[in-house]
Amino acid sequence: MAAAVPVGVRSLMDRLWSHGHAAYVVGGSIRDTLIGRPASDWDLATDARPDRLLSILPGAVYENQFGTVAVREGTDGGASVVHEITTFRTDHEYADFRRPHRVEFGDDIRLDLARRDFTVNAMAWGADAPPPGGRTLERPGPAAQLIDPFGGVDDGAARTVRAVGEPALRFGEDALRMVRAVRLATTLAFTIEPATLAAIRAQAGLARHLSGERVAAELEKLLAAERPSSGLALLAETELLAVLLPELAEQAGVPQNKLPGDDLWAHTLRTVDAAPAARPVVRLAALLHDVGKPATIDDGPFRGHEVVGAELARAIMDRLRQPKVVTERVVHLVRQHMFTYEETWSDAAVRRFIQRVGIAALPDLLALREADNVGSGSDPETRGLAALRSRVRAELDASNALDRGGLAVHGDDLMAALGIPAGPTLGRILDELLERVIADPGLNDRPTLLLLAESMLAEDE
Ligand code: ATP
Ligand code: MG
Repeated sequence: MAAAVPVGVRSLMDRLWSHGHAAYVVGGSIRDTLIGRPASDWDLATDARPDRLLSILPGAVYENQFGTVAVREGTDGGASVVHEITTFRTDHEYADFRRPHRVEFGDDIRLDLARRDFTVNAMAWGADAPPPGGRTLERPGPAAQLIDPFGGVDDGAARTVRAVGEPALRFGEDALRMVRAVRLATTLAFTIEPATLAAIRAQAGLARHLSGERVAAELEKLLAAERPSSGLALLAETELLAVLLPELAEQAGVPQNKLPGDDLWAHTLRTVDAAPAARPVVRLAALLHDVGKPATIDDGPFRGHEVVGAELARAIMDRLRQPKVVTERVVHLVRQHMFTYEETWSDAAVRRFIQRVGIAALPDLLALREADNVGSGSDPETRGLAALRSRVRAELDASNALDRGGLAVHGDDLMAALGIPAGPTLGRILDELLERVIADPGLNDRPTLLLLAESMLAEDE
């Protein structure tokens, strides 16, 4: 541990000790270090109360209403990282299967560890306050040691997610822990210990009390795993999926004529795995791309599933309290994912495709199609994807107008030259001009467009 803890964190610990307080590294960073993964955030725990932390740590600020304090620490590289310091606590009175109603500050690291969710997350590395008198050469800072009251080291070595204490009780206190168990198992490639798993199965229904934000934070981490399918399958198997994302739970058993033996849910899982892990929007779109299929199974079959799917995707994203920009991108991808490229497409057809999708969304949509191809058991570049890619590239390189911004006249030109007022007529004329230019890029010069606009205006009147 000692070698892994960054200098900035060590100096924070030193500062806490020198002010007569306990200082421990806790949570995910200990777990990740012990299992040989790079730790992301180094969280600290101490017996110092929040107001005391603010007075002994320059630049410390309150992070949340539970008294967690954030300290910005300069690092060797010049960039700065923020560390969270939380006062030891015990949680009380979980009345609604969510958050504790009251937290009580404590003085004992072991009690603090006991409130944590899983044994691998319930370890600490550090020391209590040194005896008073300050540090001298004869009396150095306290020797940090690993505190592991629940067997986290062994569980980490066995790659096991095990609840601290009685699983049913712990999930009854906070239902998010069930989702966190699945998320941790997925990102760490761990298995969930049988009694812990059984308690999740038995109490999955409690997840209905969870807020969209908290579920979304775990889902986002799950989807960033190397193979999210294992976690999604676990959500389905434990019936958490039916509670959290019932629209997707309906995909099981819906037949697909893609890979033999695969139902629609299996296709979704393959597609998610095939989407790039570093692109969360594409992963989300992959998860939701066929969400409209169960409702449209008798229509043709699945005719219009991308329209129904886009609506369902919007409802899901809203329920998960996703930022509007993310929602719009995902909904758009679901809505557009059914394009069929043919070699016979004219250049104008390629430009219309680019216009409909929007230049900004193209890389995501092509990545989604690639994943969808793999999820269907096909070559990634099948269904003309490679050819479409190169034709799209050629159009972008040719710098033909592909949206209003590419036209040789803009709204204010039309207002000034032709006296068209701002309003729906102006918008309609710009759209019509773009349509003409997409069909024939040769028209894209100012005099031609002004002439065209004039005649459109005359027709309009
Ligand atoms: P990651 O590396 O993905 O951030 P993490 O384990 O650090 O994983 P956090 O959400 O950052 O996860 O939580 C930090 C620590 O707080 C956990 O390691 C765990 O000890 C504790 N914790 C978080 N959420 C809960 C919860 N719902 N119930 C009990 N303890 C929790
Ligand atoms: Mg963390």
